[in-house]
Amino acid sequence: MSFLLNKKNEHETACEEAIRAGKSREAIFHAAKAAEFAYALAEQAGGSLQPRYIEEAEGWLEIAEKIKQAPLKGGAAGDGKGAKASAQKAEEGDVAADSWLITVKPKVSFDDIAGMLDAKESIHDMVILPLKDPEKARALKLKPGGGVLLYGPPGTGKTLLGKAVAHELDAAFFYASGAQLRSKWHGESEQRLRALLQAAKSQPVAVLFLDEVDGLLPKRGGNSVVDNRIVAQFLAEVGGFEESDNVLLILGATNNPWDIDEAVFRTGRFDEKIHVGLPDDPARQGILRMHLESLPLQEGFDFAKWADRLTGYTGSDIVGIVNDAKRAALRRSVTGNTDPQVTEADLEQAFKTIPSSVTPAMLRRYQEFGKQRFG
Ligand code: ADP
Repeated sequence: MSFLLNKKNEHETACEEAIRAGKSREAIFHAAKAAEFAYALAEQAGGSLQPRYIEEAEGWLEIAEKIKQAPLKGGAAGDGKGAKASAQKAEEGDVAADSWLITVKPKVSFDDIAGMLDAKESIHDMVILPLKDPEKARALKLKPGGGVLLYGPPGTGKTLLGKAVAHELDAAFFYASGAQLRSKWHGESEQRLRALLQAAKSQPVAVLFLDEVDGLLPKRGGNSVVDNRIVAQFLAEVGGFEESDNVLLILGATNNPWDIDEAVFRTGRFDEKIHVGLPDDPARQGILRMHLESLPLQEGFDFAKWADRLTGYTGSDIVGIVNDAKRAALRRSVTGNTDPQVTEADLEQAFKTIPSSVTPAMLRRYQEFGKQRFG
């Protein structure tokens, strides 16, 4: 490790210790020093690493500034204030974890998801069956839970699948997005992640849905200490599913699987990787039917034809087109004072103006990534 990197790490650690001890002046000093070394590293590194170091330096300066404006509570004077501050922090962590707990069970069930047969089957076998018949699962030394990564283009139903799993199981459902968990305030992301994992592990059965998991667990490489620490913490805490008493299913969803740190894919974390691609013909028809069949619809509406025409569209694109068509139908009905009815012409109009949100090149990238990385 280079001298500069060593010094930067030293000051970062010292700064964090000072923050924990409630020593504002020391924390500001070390944050400023960490920034200084991060800037020096930026200068030395050049290339693509440069902006990462600059971002880090700015992060440390921001911390120093925040502490200046609002000095830390507590202290190491043995007056108990430090303990009080950390107790308060722990409480804040609990509150944060609670806010991710979706107490109202998602209404979406597997039946509300068109297609995705492979994904549904994998999740059914891995989580739902072992829970429905734990005796048999135990006899076969199978434990429910584990990690499943859903990857694929946006709008293909990954979140929907996460919700359906929680619906199907009598499980507590936690939802957090990578962006939500990552905070500019160094240290807080780790605390939030810990609180979240602890809260999930305290439930007998929990589904933890981590959306945009690439934002939370980006590739490490010495560029960002915070990123490195969050990944390391995740790996440490989400290692042995088999050792925990509770049943924890971690579902990660990502549109950018190539940005995730490689260690995350190793055994014990995301054992199952499921590629969620574009809906196939029956799935497209299913989505159309779900959203149109209960509406006043032109007689003889040709679902098969529209499923075919919408080849290459994602589930969420299709819902967008249907909504556009519904609005056109409403406009016509209000202006002409007629009964509302969605026609194929409404769909045609929407279809012409809304392109598919994914390109063949994007799809190829997912396929190649899956082949190369997961075989
Ligand atoms: P992702 O998490 O992959 O970005 P979402 O699960 O948020 O996608 O999907 C967005 C919306 O698209 C859903 O709320 C739903 O209305 C629709 N959708 C996508 N795929 C499907 C599907 N297979 N069946 C039914 N609706 C779907």
